[in-house]
Amino acid sequence: MKSKIVLLGPPGAGKGTQGEKLENELGYVRLSTGDMLREAVRKGTSLGVKAKTYMDAGALVPNDLIINLMKEKIASLGNNAGIIFDGFPRTVEQAEALDQAVDIDLAIDLNVADKVLVERLTQRRTCPQCNAVYHLAYNPPKKAGFCDKCGSVLYQRDDDKEATVKNRLEVYRKNTLPLVDYYKKAGKLTVIDGTGDIETIFDQVKKALN
Ligand code: AMP
Repeated sequence: MKSKIVLLGPPGAGKGTQGEKLENELGYVRLSTGDMLREAVRKGTSLGVKAKTYMDAGALVPNDLIINLMKEKIASLGNNAGIIFDGFPRTVEQAEALDQAVDIDLAIDLNVADKVLVERLTQRRTCPQCNAVYHLAYNPPKKAGFCDKCGSVLYQRDDDKEATVKNRLEVYRKNTLPLVDYYKKAGKLTVIDGTGDIETIFDQVKKALN
């Protein structure tokens, strides 16, 4: 099975949902820069203080901060870990830095139309404790308002509100979309339709890993 996997795709494409399943069902370690940054903001670390304004605006946190954060994480895991990169890289500069740190085996691009993305993001609810994500209509928690996994009260991320979502999609198009070509040229790209039900998409993801 492929070991070092990048999940590409715009915000709301399902990277977190699929990454979480890969972690829980197949034992990969999921490294989500978004989750790490949100934790840093909650704890008020110096990284969190620096990152917050960018995140609130739906802008990208500067490359050097993100690259250092990821390099440290990767080094702490050792060579044998199967790793899912979720939300990283988001720029060509980050992708080049990642290539220096590990050999990426596969980049999966989850393809979803913009209209669907806006609807998914604005209806998304997140667990502040274990980072599980839900959709109010398509993937609701068993008990409304509470995380199935750890029981915490779910919340709506500030950057999932409509005004910020539009900016995040623009930022994606400008900075992150070029990575589809980057991994295609490297012969590492698989494109998967990210619409439809979670299990069907997961079946496709698993096939791509073999
Ligand atoms: P996410 O949870 O992946 O949607 O990330 C939430 C926010 O964290 C983004 O809108 C950015 O502000 C920031 N962020 C996460 N990952 C990165 C990254 N690789 N590069 C720059 N900013 C990032």
